[in-house]
Amino acid sequence: MFDYIYDEKAIVQKRKQIFEEFLELSENVEDGNFKTISTYDLKLLFELYDKVFFHSDFRNQYEGSLRFSFSKRMTRSAGLTLCPQNISTLQPKDVIIEFRFGINFFFNYDLSHKEKFVSGVKTHNALEALQLVLEHEICHVIEFILYHRSSCKGKRFKTIAKNLFNHSSSYHALPTNREIAKEKLGLSIGKRVSFQFENESFEGFINGINKRATVMVKNKEGDYIDRQGNRYAKYYVPLNHLTLIE
Ligand SMILES: [Zn+2]
Repeated sequence: MFDYIYDEKAIVQKRKQIFEEFLELSENVEDGNFKTISTYDLKLLFELYDKVFFHSDFRNQYEGSLRFSFSKRMTRSAGLTLCPQNISTLQPKDVIIEFRFGINFFFNYDLSHKEKFVSGVKTHNALEALQLVLEHEICHVIEFILYHRSSCKGKRFKTIAKNLFNHSSSYHALPTNREIAKEKLGLSIGKRVSFQFENESFEGFINGINKRATVMVKNKEGDYIDRQGNRYAKYYVPLNHLTLIE
């Protein structure tokens, strides 16, 4: 099972077929750049992959269970595969493998204008990106099922990903919050910014950007000290509350 080899043309065609069938069947997603999606949609998308790429091997031959979830906290990985550490000691029917997706990467897809490659394949909208991330995670699931361990840095993984999906890389270039902040708002690490907090105005510099920015503000009682002996207090500020000081 799972040992199919497709050429590039067939892969592109299958991916497109899934894209179209998914839009037809999904109750939430109506076009490539969606702002609403549920875990049922993930399951639906996966089932289309099983049908189109795997002749329903997952449905017919994999005895364990698959779960699907979204996370708002994933800021670097767009997808994860969670597999029990002790998979080799479990009965096949007791194995539960979970696909988890960083939802913000897909909702924020069109907030940046840069080219967005996923696994070495250029994508044009959030649904295509989701498909590519799912394909990558499917390769992890296959490795976990067949070999009980998986690493996308390994040669075996790369061969599976190439044969099935023509992936040439294990990385995504989807915009991160940090990149969106930089492109949209000009915010980047080291920049001076001001913001309002409890009706007071503060000034400081950006020390980090994740979901929010970390801003260091000079403060005599602050817990953070730089090499010159200045003390700072640390604030976590939503990106759209920051004003850049030129
Ligand atoms: Zn991976």
